[in-house]
Amino acid sequence: MDRIINIAIDGPSGAGKSTLAKMVAEKLRIIYVDTGAMYRSIALYMVQNGIDTGKKDKVVPALEKITLSLEYTEDGKQRLVLNGEDVMEKIRTPEISSNASKVSAIPEVREFLLNLQRDIAKTKSVVMDGRDIGTVILPNADVKIFLTATNEGRAARRFKELTEKGIETTYEAVLKDMTERDKRDRERDVAPAVPAEDSVFFDNSEYNKEEMLEKALEIIKSKVGEF
Ligand code: C5P
Repeated sequence: MDRIINIAIDGPSGAGKSTLAKMVAEKLRIIYVDTGAMYRSIALYMVQNGIDTGKKDKVVPALEKITLSLEYTEDGKQRLVLNGEDVMEKIRTPEISSNASKVSAIPEVREFLLNLQRDIAKTKSVVMDGRDIGTVILPNADVKIFLTATNEGRAARRFKELTEKGIETTYEAVLKDMTERDKRDRERDVAPAVPAEDSVFFDNSEYNKEEMLEKALEIIKSKVGEF
């Protein structure tokens, strides 16, 4: 694609945002940016250093000690490098999910990550997923999709992902954790996880992966034309 296009995919956890964003990126040969992984990386630093993510006065000064960079491997996979270490594996635990949601409610943390997210979309076509991409990070995105699914469907997806990774948990624990996290994300004062007014609402409960991609490509085509 010759011109730069920006696609924003927002929505609650477990709706299939990253699966969809990765497929769209591959199909359109553009870059996938996973912003949740950035909040997770900040949370990882805090947890590793014994900093309570619920305490803003402890979290904010610690940001000065963090260097976070976004890199891409030759096959186009995103890597987040936290103070020199690739943390993509370590950030996918339930403990980090919950701490990521806590740090993400702190305005200074969001400010810290803002340019890292915005800058990449200025020079490259991207599909970026998160909670506030269409509302705050890329308000002029060419396409904005708000992806969701039923609570039970989302929890079942996340439970399967975690057990496949060998992380021990139960469906009930995942559902509880997810419900709490989504409520906190939706109700926070800064950049709450709500749909942008001009986003296309997409309920993914009834679709398999291929159907989800097909539907998303239709939405993208309707906004940016043929590609
Ligand atoms: O998408 P993921 O589950 O990896 O995100 C982890 C947490 O990071 C979310 O629960 C949310 O609190 C936060 N987040 C955010 N804004 C984004 C992406 C993620 O607040 N753009």
